[in-house]
Amino acid sequence: MTDSTKALRYAVIGAGMAGLLAAIKLKERGENFTVFEKAAKLGGTWRENRYPGLTCDVPAHAYTYSFEPYAEWQSYYATGGEIQTYFEYVASKYDLLPSIRFNSEVVGAVFDDASQTWTLTLGNGERIEVDVVIAASGVLHHPKTPDIPGLDTFAGPAFHTARWDDAAPIDGARVGLIGCGSTGIQIVTAINKRVKNLVHFQRSPQWVMPVPQFAYTDEDRAAFRKDPALIDAIRYNEEYIGAIKRFTDGVTDIEGEAMHQIEEVCRQHLEDSIRDPILREKLRPNYRAACKRLIYSWCYYEEVQHPAVFVETGRIERIEPNGVRMQDGTFHELDTLILATGFHADRFIRPTTVLGAGGVSLDTVWERRPTAYYAVTIPGFPNFFMLNGPTGPVGNFSLIDIAERQWTYIDQLIARLRSGEARGVVPTQAAFDDYETRRIAAAKKTIFGSGCTSWYLDDEGVPATWPWSYDDFDKAMSRPVMEDYALIA
Ligand code: NAP
Repeated sequence: MTDSTKALRYAVIGAGMAGLLAAIKLKERGENFTVFEKAAKLGGTWRENRYPGLTCDVPAHAYTYSFEPYAEWQSYYATGGEIQTYFEYVASKYDLLPSIRFNSEVVGAVFDDASQTWTLTLGNGERIEVDVVIAASGVLHHPKTPDIPGLDTFAGPAFHTARWDDAAPIDGARVGLIGCGSTGIQIVTAINKRVKNLVHFQRSPQWVMPVPQFAYTDEDRAAFRKDPALIDAIRYNEEYIGAIKRFTDGVTDIEGEAMHQIEEVCRQHLEDSIRDPILREKLRPNYRAACKRLIYSWCYYEEVQHPAVFVETGRIERIEPNGVRMQDGTFHELDTLILATGFHADRFIRPTTVLGAGGVSLDTVWERRPTAYYAVTIPGFPNFFMLNGPTGPVGNFSLIDIAERQWTYIDQLIARLRSGEARGVVPTQAAFDDYETRRIAAAKKTIFGSGCTSWYLDDEGVPATWPWSYDDFDKAMSRPVMEDYALIA
């Protein structure tokens, strides 16, 4: 910080990937900030998810901060445990731990119009006044438990994947697994050879994009350590970047060549991989590829054909103490029931009570749907910035890259406060309304809105994700349109 800049107080909410990013950037500038973390450990989603098979389906070297490449990845796609280790390593390297307050849930954030400050309330009642709030509270962190009759009567362990029960019988056990998202699919591939039998309850099958997976050798890692350019060559590999761009172009141009190619690769993968025609038809979705988030897997089709796995496509009637009863009367006797049933994706910073200018509640503003101007700011909530907030890009690419680009944008807004030019910065309602109208119109035309259920859709069935291309996102984040912001003196 230079003498000519105004000293601001910052609160970063959440010590996951995005919160750590904000902390590093603020620390680099010598800013006065504290990270408030509800749990006893950092890591966010990578702390909470520990299920067998947990792997990030973004190449490991791309799922790292651009400024902190990591030579130690064991394979092209990293396990959840390795990623947690990476974040712990980064936090230690940048000496962030003294700035993180663990076991400190922010339960309230209230804006004061007169002072243009935010007062946070922690779970223990403590109040902290700051000038800027960075909400890095994550997206998929409120587990969704299915509303199936009798679930609470199950005699054995029944638990959500984000609350993995290490004591639950898996080895040699009869295991039921409900849910076929990225999580459920990864679990099949990891426990199929351990169980006595695995019943995978599949309400909707998934399209699967085949991807390579391979281990890095000690020699590879030694070479990465010596020459970071080798890491860059993987991270910025033309084929990989090209695939992301083709994907986001395809998402927005659903009758274009790129999307048809993606669909054809997935269809051919199914035809070529599943030998039993009955299973093949069970696994064939009746919606378009990429409508739900694509499964990127190098092994699911092979592993689901293991004799211990049975894909149950009937409808569940109820759960009984000893297993699951299907509507056709079939009964699956089970020792353990795993719920890979996803998350409430519309929560973001909530249940924290957030009251903006004039005491307006975020809950009220988000009554219809959670949204934000370019996914980062909200009219009526000055100096409140979100990383990985609503309407941002989500998909089969690195959310670290998304958060870094969002930081570039946020930083330019904060610069207006640091310079003393204004005490508050907030998007205008008119700019937001225009953004939201354009966003919704575009979202309805994306592949996500082409006729499937998924956590991408809001309550009205409108895709909640960024509806334009990756390049458009990059451009939007590179420089805020300052005419769309009000500066409060
Ligand atoms: P999800 O994609 O929301 O999938 C939930 C699954 O549960 C769906 O198959 C859904 O079926 C099923 N389900 C929900 N309620 C049910 C019910 N009452 N009866 C039967 N089935 C029910 O959740 P997820 O798999 O946890 O994944 C969420 C997201 O986390 C992913 O899309 C991804 O963004 C992220 N993730 C990423 C990775 C990675 O490798 N990067 C790994 C895991 C997760 P329907 O489809 O029929 O609704």
